[in-house]
Amino acid sequence: MSGTINEFEMAQRQFDHVAKLLSLDPQIAEVLRWPMREFTFRIPVRMDDGSLRVFQGFRVQHNDARGPNKGGIRFHQAETLDMVRALATWMTWKCAVADIPLGGGKGGVIVDPATLLTSEKERLCRGWVQNMWKNIGPRQDVPAPDVGTTPQMMGWMMDEYSKLSGQYTPGVITGKPVGGGGSLGRTEATGYGVIYTVREAMKHLKLDSKKCVAAMQGFGNVTQYAAIGFIEMLGGKVACVSCWDRKYKTSYTYSHTDGVDPRFLMTITDEYGTIDKEKAITAGYIVEDGEAWITKEADVLMPGALGGQINADNVSKISKCVKIVAEGANGPTTPEADEYFKQNGIFDIPDFLCNAGGVTTSYFEQVQNDMNFYWSKEEVLGKLDAKMTSAFYAVLEMSEKHKVYMRDAAYMVAIDRVVKAMQLRGWV
Ligand code: NAD
Repeated sequence: MSGTINEFEMAQRQFDHVAKLLSLDPQIAEVLRWPMREFTFRIPVRMDDGSLRVFQGFRVQHNDARGPNKGGIRFHQAETLDMVRALATWMTWKCAVADIPLGGGKGGVIVDPATLLTSEKERLCRGWVQNMWKNIGPRQDVPAPDVGTTPQMMGWMMDEYSKLSGQYTPGVITGKPVGGGGSLGRTEATGYGVIYTVREAMKHLKLDSKKCVAAMQGFGNVTQYAAIGFIEMLGGKVACVSCWDRKYKTSYTYSHTDGVDPRFLMTITDEYGTIDKEKAITAGYIVEDGEAWITKEADVLMPGALGGQINADNVSKISKCVKIVAEGANGPTTPEADEYFKQNGIFDIPDFLCNAGGVTTSYFEQVQNDMNFYWSKEEVLGKLDAKMTSAFYAVLEMSEKHKVYMRDAAYMVAIDRVVKAMQLRGWV
């Protein structure tokens, strides 16, 4: 997934660094360095051809001092327990920085979902819930979609949980399809949330968004709506997006002399975020290797695919024009690349602040499920904008007050809030 980088070691290194800055009691730090609970389990699934395949499943619950654990389930062929641990840890910080009353969790299955038929995917989703249902729930742990999982899969998982628990429980999982307990605005939420924080960063740096260009990695849920938002909300231009190509088994960067048109590209992109290369070429797109996105002359870089994508090997290839890195993906920047940003005055919007729009809207979905009363899309996105904007300024103020880098400031805000909740509950 990201070469030799171990994401959990990276998450712990980031935490240790800020624990030192905060002079955090080492005993309290020891509680937060590790997840509270971890589940690993095997899921046997009958394939349509009659054969049986067994999949490895995970769920990690990092810390629930502020509320039920919250975080997605990834279906990816290179999933590991350490990856899930790192992502669960980042979810704790993300929910705390967004100031929503939830903790951190993450789940996964080692599988390439594109190799499964729809009926096989449904059985795998139901199998995941059969293993985990006693340890998830609206007041315990609330999963959601992530890489390789979809709203339809969340619908099956919610249905399985409701059957096993004996009552309709839409609040057990978020990211459900609209009409099946889902919230309007959830599809756009993460990408638009990225753009709300980019908008505020531009105001802070006194940049004219209409003159700004962005280079983006990935073209899945996050990047599609970040690209639309960058063009339609900020009036900027998107130089390129990229994707993993399942057919050619490599990644490509797509650019266009007039800037890319995300709404058009979405019409030639499959459900896993792979752009149809031939159709893109016919439409006048330039296709380069997957690394090309990082070298583009852009004001904003937006990694929106996988972890560890900006690292010691490629960070020096970043154009001198880059002023903002908006981390749409989770863990896209390694500590070495972080150091380069600091030395070169690049303003980083750290992942667990930048992409918190998804979990914030998931929280809104749960609130609507609890009330059994649903908001309009405008209401959801308006509430999301308010939450993201106030989270951005909480971090910026911490950064200015303590003269620290934005990632450190985001950690300081988040760790402060989680430690306070643990103390108030008498845990530490
Ligand atoms: P997705 O599965 O919809 O899309 C992933 C995209 O990345 C696809 O276009 C894929 O082709 C591309 N990709 C994969 N490998 C690549 C490579 N080597 N080079 C270039 N592109 C590559 O996933 P998503 O939901 O858009 O999530 C993307 C990232 O954002 C992940 O890190 C995820 O954890 C994070 N995230 C997602 C959400 C959400 O709500 N969807 C919320 C917060 C964070």
